[in-house]
Amino acid sequence: MSTPDVIVVGAGPGGYVAAIRAAQLGRRVALVEREPRLGGTCLRVGCIPTKALLHSSELYAQARHRFEDNGIHTGEVRLDLSALLARKERIVEELTGGIGLLMKKHKIDVHRGTGSLVGPGRVLVSGAGASTELRAAAVILATGGRPIALGPLPVDGEHVVDSTGALGFSEVPRRLVVVGGGAIGLELGSVWQRLGAEVTVVELMPQIVPQADRQVAKMLQRALKKQGLSFRLRTRVTGAERAGDELRITVSDHQGRVEVLDADRLLVAVGREPCTEGLGLDEAGVALDERGRVAVDSRWETSVPGVYAIGDLVDGPMVAHKASEEGAAVAELLAGRTPDLRRDTIPSVVYTAPELATVGLTEAAAGDLGLEAKAARFYFQANGRARTLGETDGLVKVVAEADTGRLLGVSVVGPHASELIAEAVLALGLNARASDLAHAVHAHPTLSEAVKEAALALEGCAIHG
Ligand code: FAD
Ligand code: NAD
Repeated sequence: MSTPDVIVVGAGPGGYVAAIRAAQLGRRVALVEREPRLGGTCLRVGCIPTKALLHSSELYAQARHRFEDNGIHTGEVRLDLSALLARKERIVEELTGGIGLLMKKHKIDVHRGTGSLVGPGRVLVSGAGASTELRAAAVILATGGRPIALGPLPVDGEHVVDSTGALGFSEVPRRLVVVGGGAIGLELGSVWQRLGAEVTVVELMPQIVPQADRQVAKMLQRALKKQGLSFRLRTRVTGAERAGDELRITVSDHQGRVEVLDADRLLVAVGREPCTEGLGLDEAGVALDERGRVAVDSRWETSVPGVYAIGDLVDGPMVAHKASEEGAAVAELLAGRTPDLRRDTIPSVVYTAPELATVGLTEAAAGDLGLEAKAARFYFQANGRARTLGETDGLVKVVAEADTGRLLGVSVVGPHASELIAEAVLALGLNARASDLAHAVHAHPTLSEAVKEAALALEGCAIHG
């Protein structure tokens, strides 16, 4: 290929979207990826395989526990775990293959190998015993993240696993302990609990999903407990021993009470850290921030001019859509455009049942910022559609500025919360007031009426609440 204008290192949702957008804007793009499959953590071992497993396990749980209530009688419901895992693999294969086709469509030159920065505008690609140097005016680093390791619990890929290991247990563990009550712990904990494991989640903080609204997190925990998950909050793992095929995990709560949890498998899900190793950042003079992420300015430019960084590698929520939006934004900047990414409208979702979705500020976070906020809620119990679905656990909570009514944030715990939150994202992005949500006409019967009703409740006039 001719000399590229832009080199993108990493083909996750940050990198491949940056590459496509730059190509759409007329740039010649080289994309460097060290894994055989494109799509990054998200497509290979993250968003997509977890959602495939969540779907299959949800169907299994419904067939076992909910069909009868709907008047449906089946014979024995039997799990074929290898078929379930094969379905997940097929979906990953199709989607990662699709990214390859998109690269071809946009004439993006894909270089297989590990990329490292050897100077401004210079990337060395090493792989399969050979190396090539690429040069371009701009380099976008999008190498993503990796799981944080926990001292006393080294991952062995068999008994102690990280999220990747927990995507493919060859049999359903009898007892699974999950360290970390965040998105990964709750999603993968739910998958294996639905498939038959006894799951205990150990969380350091006083609530699961610590950044979420307290009431919303509590409601999610209650629903998961009803399904059979156990929780140890304000608790840390202090040690783990292996005896044959068994694990004895010692935990200690905030009052120093010690408990031993026996398990067959242990999932460590205590967060992810940026993947900066071997990227040549030190040598090239790219500065890191105090948490080891690549430091960038408001235009995603690093301390080295012409070198940009996006996605899990930099500050902000470690979610795929944030990485993609940043990738597109940097491509726009390089084309002389002004991107309009609203960082305060990045939603976050936990795909449990019920799902938890939030955007903007919680009431507590608004208070921390010195904003005088008011909040109102509406429960799915009183929503007709939720009742027809038999999914009435949860609520919508709307937070607005007390004097102006400006919408500050929305939290949803309930059925299809991941879809319901889109309305709130748009409203926040348009600087709407809560009353705009309240007065928009919502089709009946829909779950989205709960969003309207929560906003109406803020004015003291919810109809069904
Ligand atoms: P990544 O997707 O990590 O991509 C980085 C790419 O760079 C990788 O392909 C890697 O191989 C490559 N790379 C690294 N170093 C080099 C190098 N030196 N040279 C060449 N290539 C290199 N987010 C959501 O929004 N929704 C979800 O449902 C969701 N579920 C998740 C479930 C799990 C189990 C996990 C682990 C994560 C999940 N995430 C989810 C988070 C999401 O996967 C990440 O936020 C997202 O993938 C970050 O995108 P990225 O492009 O920054 O990095
Ligand atoms: P997380 O930060 O979401 O949750 C980690 C949890 O572990 C936190 O609740 C934290 O308090 C707890 N913790 C930390 N140290 C602990 C310890 N020693 N003992 C017990 N608990 C401890 O991280 P994650 O769940 O590992 O996910 C990693 C990243 O991937 C996150 O940034 C997340 O946003 C992203 N992700 C997103 C999705 C999604 O969007 N649906 C799904 C999976 C992962």
